Amino acid sequence: MTVIRVALPVPLRQHFDYLLPENSSVTVGCRVQVPFGQRQLIGIVWQIDPDSPFEHCQLKAVSHILEDAPVISGTLRLLLSFAAEYYHHPLGEVLTAALPALLREGRQLRDYALTGYRLTAAGEAAQSSDFKRSAKQLALWQTLQTSPLAEDTLLQQHHRSTLKQLIDKGMVVAETLERQPYAYQGLAQTPLQLTVDQAIAVSAVQQAYGKFQPFLLEGVTGSGKTEVYLQCIAPLLARGEQVLLLLPEIGLTPQTLQRFVQRFNVPVLAWHSNLSDGERLSCWLQAASGSAAIVIGTRSALFLPFRQLSLIIIDEEHDLSLKQQDGFRYHARDLAIKRGSLEGCPVLLGSATPSLESLYNCQQKRYVHLELQHRATGQSLPPFELIDLKQQQLQFGLADSSIKQIRGQLARGKQVMLFLNRRGFAPALSCQDCGWLTECKRCSTFTTYHKHSRQLLCHHCGASRPIPRQCGSCGSARLAPVGQGTEQLEEHLQQLFADTPVTRLDRDSTRRKGALGELLKDINQAGPRLILGTQMLAKGHHFPFVTLVVIVDVDGALYSADFRAPEQLAQLLTQVAGRAGRGNDKGKVLLQTQHPEHALLQDIIQNGYAAFARSALLERQQTTLPPYQHLALFRAEALQSDLCQQWLQQVAELCQAYNGLQRLGPLLSPLERKAGKYRWQLHLYSQNRPLLHHALGHILPEITRWPLSRKVKWQLDVDALDL
Ligand code: ADP
Ligand code: ZN
Ligand code: ZN
Repeated sequence: MTVIRVALPVPLRQHFDYLLPENSSVTVGCRVQVPFGQRQLIGIVWQIDPDSPFEHCQLKAVSHILEDAPVISGTLRLLLSFAAEYYHHPLGEVLTAALPALLREGRQLRDYALTGYRLTAAGEAAQSSDFKRSAKQLALWQTLQTSPLAEDTLLQQHHRSTLKQLIDKGMVVAETLERQPYAYQGLAQTPLQLTVDQAIAVSAVQQAYGKFQPFLLEGVTGSGKTEVYLQCIAPLLARGEQVLLLLPEIGLTPQTLQRFVQRFNVPVLAWHSNLSDGERLSCWLQAASGSAAIVIGTRSALFLPFRQLSLIIIDEEHDLSLKQQDGFRYHARDLAIKRGSLEGCPVLLGSATPSLESLYNCQQKRYVHLELQHRATGQSLPPFELIDLKQQQLQFGLADSSIKQIRGQLARGKQVMLFLNRRGFAPALSCQDCGWLTECKRCSTFTTYHKHSRQLLCHHCGASRPIPRQCGSCGSARLAPVGQGTEQLEEHLQQLFADTPVTRLDRDSTRRKGALGELLKDINQAGPRLILGTQMLAKGHHFPFVTLVVIVDVDGALYSADFRAPEQLAQLLTQVAGRAGRGNDKGKVLLQTQHPEHALLQDIIQNGYAAFARSALLERQQTTLPPYQHLALFRAEALQSDLCQQWLQQVAELCQAYNGLQRLGPLLSPLERKAGKYRWQLHLYSQNRPLLHHALGHILPEITRWPLSRKVKWQLDVDALDL
């Protein structure tokens, strides 16, 4: 009897061994159905004949073998095993991130085979004179004479009704087709003449084809990083190979896809969280068969089963959304580097504001550093002007001199962008008589007043409630909004600049499917316009007519306790500023602040991101913070605060046994209470990564056995980014 080890989608850190029925065989990477408690689960064969601690009589038998060719290839299995070990996360849950839902549910692959059409014997014997009365039928018949065609390809050029007519005549018949690797037909668009810096970058990456090598492309906003990506990709497509491009969620717009589709005559697929299960599986199958040439996707596209992956590109590599923030907390950039090493292919990270981690890796010579210091169009980067709010009259949060400059640009027919990182109408409602503020009942935070949807909304737990008529403390009816969010700024801008169209880009205005695309289309039309929005404005979009950017309020971010706050603020300011002056006109950035003398603002403005980042890195070294230390974080949450504290205290005590492991905490999390639960954390630091991992590997099984571990909700976050 053969024992097999199966990876099952359950949140348990242990192995699951089963017996293989007599006379049957399996391959590693195939799906099997197995009994698990009272249920039947679908899992993946991970190992055959493992060193099992169990007697045969203790093991249950596999119920069903779903296929004989692996659904998860060897490279991908290695990547998932690595991820489970590195993030100390149950393998089964890692697998859940990698396998489309339909496959996890046990659907048969053959049900998703490709339908194609070919001529029958009668069809082959036909003459063109047989189609005298239908030019459409003739055209379809002629198309099929060369070779059978897949349904979707066929229907791009012919009507379904025509197809049906030929089937009814007995000339065409449906059949199951093998998915074929895509065929390259040359460029669809002439590439741009590269600048010298771009050419150096492209040639460096091209020389690394076929071997593992990470690159960091540090290129100022508008320096033509996308053109570098395009030209790095081209020769690989000519060889029939595949490319993966990872983007932050919000960067994945129809416009981005279009740039790739317009350049290459190949299938470019999008992968993101709005796909249906069917669309996901289809993308997965096309990656596996090689019929997708380029996949452009968010985070989890990293786990697609490419047939011949030859280049991984990560745009906006500094973006925090590349790290999953719950459950299996992986960093897509870091796992992409691992995947590159397993596939033996180059990995290209791009950003105008690279993470300190990646700059550090360049210093350590792990990544090759490529730089684009100038804008491709020859435009200079927009200068900053600090607007001291203490010395100015304000109208609706805008200084007089800001308003004057906005008017000036609008009068010239230009667009102005206003950045305010707070959605909703106002961060809270307040009582005019006693100062009471609307708070979330379940979180230690205020609730945002949303005027359009007429509710108070907690941005942390999502709870909403109707707007109160009276103060919750003194009963007064005099409630008024405090502070300004994007909804309110939009109203004010409409008042101040009555004839100018205003476009608001934030999570609320883009919620509807397709809405973001429509708003971006408006923005890409010439003519005076005010564009206002949150973070969303910062991410990679190309706004050709914006000449002035106004950063309405940054002061909230200047005094944060998180050691990463300065880096994140510098990235945000630089990215937002980078939207200005990308067309033919020079741009400018106004930064409104109560603290114009603040050292961080001065540093960013006078020296630029590149210089800021290098001095920030030096500071991290002097204070031995990441990337000079490795960080793992235990989080605990429960209805009772002291349970969390007690649990983390026990963890901290276990850690004492390891020299070279520093502890910080247990501490209350910055948001102390969320959705009714108290939150605490314990930071573990070490300069020695293997030691940290060794310690985690030993303490986790111990922790799992504690009765207290069932009373708190806890998780481990390796390389945590949000503290
Ligand atoms: P980034 O991704 O670095 O912000 P983009 O790739 O979007 O920059 O390029 C910014 C602008 O510069 C685009 O309009 C692009 O067409 C143009 N551009 C890029 N490379 C070149 C080049 N070599 N010559 C002329 N224009 C270029
Ligand atoms: Zn009151
Ligand atoms: Zn809440």
